[in-house]
Amino acid sequence: MTTGTTTVAAYAAPAAKAPLERTTIERRAVGEFDVLIDIKFAGICHSDIHQAREGWGEAIFPMVPGHEIAGVVSEVGPGVTKFAVGDRVGVGCMVDSCRECDNCKAGLEQYCTGGGMTGTYNALDKNGEPTYGGYSQKIVVDENYVVRIPDGLALDVAAPLLCAGITTYSPLKHWNAGPGKKVAIVGMGGLGHMGVKIAHALGAEVTVLSQSLRKKDDGLKLGADHYYATSDPETFTKLAGTFDLILSTVSAPLSLDAYLSLLKTDGAFVNVGAPEEPVALNLFSVIGGRKTLAGSGIGGIQETQEMLDFCAEHGFGAEIELIGATEINEAYERVLGSDVRYRFVIDTATI
Ligand code: NAP
Ligand code: ZN
Ligand code: ZN
Repeated sequence: MTTGTTTVAAYAAPAAKAPLERTTIERRAVGEFDVLIDIKFAGICHSDIHQAREGWGEAIFPMVPGHEIAGVVSEVGPGVTKFAVGDRVGVGCMVDSCRECDNCKAGLEQYCTGGGMTGTYNALDKNGEPTYGGYSQKIVVDENYVVRIPDGLALDVAAPLLCAGITTYSPLKHWNAGPGKKVAIVGMGGLGHMGVKIAHALGAEVTVLSQSLRKKDDGLKLGADHYYATSDPETFTKLAGTFDLILSTVSAPLSLDAYLSLLKTDGAFVNVGAPEEPVALNLFSVIGGRKTLAGSGIGGIQETQEMLDFCAEHGFGAEIELIGATEINEAYERVLGSDVRYRFVIDTATI
C-alpha cells in the first residue's frame, strides 16, 4: 500500500477559458478500499468543455477534466475485494456519494440526496480536496466507484462508454426503447452516436435528427433506420406525431416546442444535453397529447457495468479519433463546431 501521495502528469485548465496545459497533480495515497489505476485513455466529453470554460457556473481551478476513464489497476488497498492488479477498469462521472440515502442504496448514486455525488473532477471529495479527472496518467478511486471493462472491449473505444455510453443507455432503458418503438436521437455527436448504436441494439426503430445530412452515411452504418436534417423545416411537418421517445443530446438550447410536436400521444422527450442557457417552453406543447418532458443524468454504478457488458455482448464501443495531449485544445474547438466523429480520446501516454 502506497503511504504517500503520488505525483502524476496531467493536463489542466489553469483558469476559466484558458487553454489546457501540461502540469502535475498529487494523487492521494491508496487507502484501504482504493484502487490505483494507470489511466490509458480518457475521452473528451462536451461537459469537460462546459466546465473548463465555466459555462455552467463557478468552477474549481486548476481543473483536470476527464470522466471517461479507461485503464489498468496497478495497486489495490488491503480491503479491496472487487479488483486485482492487472484488471481492466473504467471510471465515469463520479468517484463517491453518501452511500446511505435511498438513491445510493437503489443504485442511483448519480442522484444521491445525501450531499450529492462527488464528481470525478471539479468537485470536492469528502476530505475537502478538489478532485481531478482523467486527463492524467493515474487516479486513485474507491473500488465501489470503479467498473470492469469486459475482455471483448478495447480500452480506447471503451473509455467514452463511461459517460456517453451510460448517459444514453440509462434513459433508453428507462423509457423502454426496444422492438416496436420509434426512437429519435437528436444530435449525432459523442452522446448521440452512442444513442444510435444502443437504441438499435435494443431493437428500436431509430431516427437521427441532426442539423444537416453531413453525417448521414455514418448514422445509417451505426444502426439508424432514418436520418433527417433539422435545418430543413419540412422535417418537422413530415415527422409530426411520429415518435414514442425522443432523446436529445444537443449541447445548445433547442426549440422544445418543435421537437415535442414530433411525439405521439403519450410520447416522451428526454433531454440529456446540458446547454449553458435556459430554454423556453410553451406548456401547450405537453398538454395536447399528454406528453412527457423529462431529463436524465448519467447512470448508477451497477447500471454502468450493465451497459459495458451490453456493449461488449453486442460487439461495439465508441467511434473514436485518438489524439495526443497537445491536441486537446484543438479538439475542444472541433467539438464546439460539431466537428467530431464521434469522440476524441486522449492517449494518456502522450501527457
Ligand atoms: P457533442 O459531441 O458536441 O455532441 C452534441 C451534438 O449536438 C453535436 O454533435 C451536434 O450534432 C448537436 N448540436 C450542437 N450544437 C447544436 C445547435 N446549436 N443546434 C442543434 N444541434 C446542435 O457533445 P456530447 O459530448 O455528446 O454532449 C452533449 C451534451 O450532453 C452536452 O451539453 C453535455 O454537457 C451533455 N451531457 C449530459 C450528460 C447527462 O448526464 N445528462 C452526460 C454527458 C454529457 P449534429 O451535428 O448531429 O447536429
Ligand atoms: Zn460526460
Ligand atoms: Zn446518497
